[in-house]
Amino acid sequence: VVVVGGGAAGLATLSTLREEGFAGSLAMVGEEPGLPYDRPPLSKQGLTGPGDGNHALISADAMDALQCDVYRGEAAIRLDARSRSVVTSRGRELPYDVLVVATGVRPRIPPWAAGHQGLHVLRTAQHAARLSAALQGAAHLLVIGGGFLGTEVAASARRLGVAATLVDIHAVPMLAQVGPLVAQRIAELHAGHGVALRCGNGVRRLLLEQGQVVGAELTDGSSCLADVVVIATGSDPAVEWLRDGGLDLTDGLSCDALCQVGSKAFGAGDVASYPSARFGRRLRLEHRMNATEQGIAVARNILGAGEAYDPIPFFWTDQYDVRLQVHGIVEPGASQRALWGDPASDTFVIGYCGPEGVLRGVLAWNAPREARRWRARIGEPLELAQAATL
Ligand SMILES: Cc1cc2nc3c(=O)[nH]c(=O)nc-3n(C[C@H](O)[C@H](O)[C@H](O)COP(=O)(O)OP(=O)(O)OC[C@H]3O[C@@H](n4cnc5c(N)ncnc54)[C@H](O)[C@@H]3O)c2cc1C
Repeated sequence: VVVVGGGAAGLATLSTLREEGFAGSLAMVGEEPGLPYDRPPLSKQGLTGPGDGNHALISADAMDALQCDVYRGEAAIRLDARSRSVVTSRGRELPYDVLVVATGVRPRIPPWAAGHQGLHVLRTAQHAARLSAALQGAAHLLVIGGGFLGTEVAASARRLGVAATLVDIHAVPMLAQVGPLVAQRIAELHAGHGVALRCGNGVRRLLLEQGQVVGAELTDGSSCLADVVVIATGSDPAVEWLRDGGLDLTDGLSCDALCQVGSKAFGAGDVASYPSARFGRRLRLEHRMNATEQGIAVARNILGAGEAYDPIPFFWTDQYDVRLQVHGIVEPGASQRALWGDPASDTFVIGYCGPEGVLRGVLAWNAPREARRWRARIGEPLELAQAATL
């Protein structure tokens, strides 16, 4: 089995294969150096905290115990599906019986930002180290893009005492991820911590000084100058190396319900989409929990379990003293209802319903226990009487 991608999903597949008794040969190709590590801390305590910046998901000894040929600092550059081999950036050709694609996503760089010096993105430990160093002693941070990554970076900067401006194309940050009600609360949370919100704005152009980015001119005509500029405008699946492989790459690697593509390849983690019978549509999840769960599911299906992968998705974000947890999915246009607590308070749960009033997502604002209670009801029609309509 050759696993391409040395993140949480790839590691979960390798570990599970060995745990479940797979005795064949294993190889892992990973373009980053070092051991597989956890990404969520990179935008949180990784930017603000002391600590050694080591968020390894496995010790060197445990990695050795997997008896896996590890090719790190080496990217897969091509798939030869006919001869069933992966070609790497060091000219290696690795034959496989089973291929696992677990290459994650890459930061999306908008055309107006391409090729400029001094911009930051945040995906890898290397990016985080660079951003962390830049924030030390910085006076002003500009974050372009108010999804969960951009908002977490702004919150971390405020914790460091750095002034922060957050630009987002929508009227409020995180609109697509949490819907209008909670997005409004997020906006208030950031404003309350001193973040200057410049929402409903795009970037007209970046401002340069001696070739370095020093700010941006926004579509409302205003300008924002900063010592540090972070682009957090989404990501794209890392599938460029699969282009010649004859695979469906419409939205990442399109897999079937078993996370399989054809008879010899599987996909796991941020890069892979799968048809969810539970939600009646294809999902590609960029969530930490999914990376592990899907990696495990792939290993089990390689060994013949034949289990459809269709969990209730889960993600969280930490900002200031708020932990948001989302179970299920939040779709544009979903109707929102308070399920527990008061959405104007500091602890509540709201539900997101589809057109037929079926509960499809649950969001908890500092209410993990209550969220788990409501999570169990995802997929059920939500009786209107049980919830105050917002
Ligand atoms: C800063 C940050 C904060 C986050 N916070 C949260 C959070 O709070 N909650 C949450 O639920 N999720 C969070 N996430 C998302 C979560 O970390 C991801 O869903 C998870 O890491 C996905 O794991 P993966 O193994 O699919 O991909 P990755 O972890 O991206 O691993 C893929 C690996 O494949 C490598 N690769 C890519 N192309 C190739 C190639 N051609 N050849 C070889 N190797 C290749 C990449 O370099 C990478 O090392 C966060 C992500 C980031 C970046």
